[in-house]
Amino acid sequence: ARSVQQVSRPSGRPTGAEFRFVDGPVPAPGPGTALVENVLLSVDPYMRENMDGDWALAAPLEGRSIGRVTASRTHGLTEGDLVFHRQGWRTHAVVRPEEVRVLPQAPGVPAEAYLGILGGTGLTAYVALTRIARIEPGETVYVSAAAGGVGSAAGQLARLMGAGRVVGSAGSPAKVRFLVEELGFDAAFDHREGRLAEQLAKAAPEGIDVYIDNVGGEHLEAAIGAMREYGRIAWCGAIAQYDASEPPPAPRNLFDLVGKSIRLEGFLVRNHRDAQEELERLLLPALAAGTVIDRHTVTEGFDGVVDAFLGMLDGRNTGKATVRVVAS
Ligand code: NDP
Repeated sequence: ARSVQQVSRPSGRPTGAEFRFVDGPVPAPGPGTALVENVLLSVDPYMRENMDGDWALAAPLEGRSIGRVTASRTHGLTEGDLVFHRQGWRTHAVVRPEEVRVLPQAPGVPAEAYLGILGGTGLTAYVALTRIARIEPGETVYVSAAAGGVGSAAGQLARLMGAGRVVGSAGSPAKVRFLVEELGFDAAFDHREGRLAEQLAKAAPEGIDVYIDNVGGEHLEAAIGAMREYGRIAWCGAIAQYDASEPPPAPRNLFDLVGKSIRLEGFLVRNHRDAQEELERLLLPALAAGTVIDRHTVTEGFDGVVDAFLGMLDGRNTGKATVRVVAS
């Protein structure tokens, strides 16, 4: 069995030297537990924040994961079950039934979707739109990091919920094409090309009503500038600042929230798990019909997990960044 541990704290962008691979025997499940062989791992931006202190050094890491039960000493789990659990960054895990979800097998819905659009990633987008921004049909929605996991879910969900116009920003021409041609965004632009405020004004000439913020900083400033009266900002994350040791200078126009009666609200998806059933009711038929897609960028092999994580921070992923440990 292999696992990854963090051995030092990063300063700025992690290089990979902060991690080490550890080999050991395959763990044996005790009474009331089961052994899971991990199939897919999720690498996520919050892990960059964990690296600064939440993760203990030289200790097992956590992360969302899907695996197959290979031995069980509990009635709650059966050999062959495919389960979602939170012991990622390792090839094998010992789990208790109450810590896992046995995944349903629906036609047209691959299990990996439970790390993507049907998992915490999709739920973040769903909660941002419904509970935080409270989107209304016909409204214009802007999504940053729109070609990533949360962003690509947010754009497609906004369309499904009757948004009038959906616009997104992402970090390459290929991602911009993906947004418009495959996800059905009405307009998209490359945040590395030219001034954000000008590009956003071109993509949404009438202004925006809702902003799903995955990036913070300059992106948030541009969105506040483009926002109409009574606009709402659902603040999911600020990936532009996770490597920084100083707070970012932008947004410099925060006081415009007052003049335009804008509401900005942050949230954590873990406080909204009760929305999972609603999300699945909405998405299962759409996924099976192919009107919504769950794109992943999959790194093959457990040894690629650190590279997959660093690549996600650099924007090498389109859709959700995942790692395939073994063929399922
Ligand atoms: P993504 O799949 O979106 O991957 C991260 C993406 O961020 C990269 O692909 C890259 O895309 C973009 N990015 C990286 N650096 C920058 C930068 N400096 N400026 C602009 N874009 C950048 O990750 P997730 O979908 O998992 O997460 C998206 C956001 O949602 C994160 O901020 C995360 O912290 C947050 N989040 C919040 C949750 C909550 O409970 N509040 C739960 C889950 C996620 P590109 O090529 O376009 O630059």
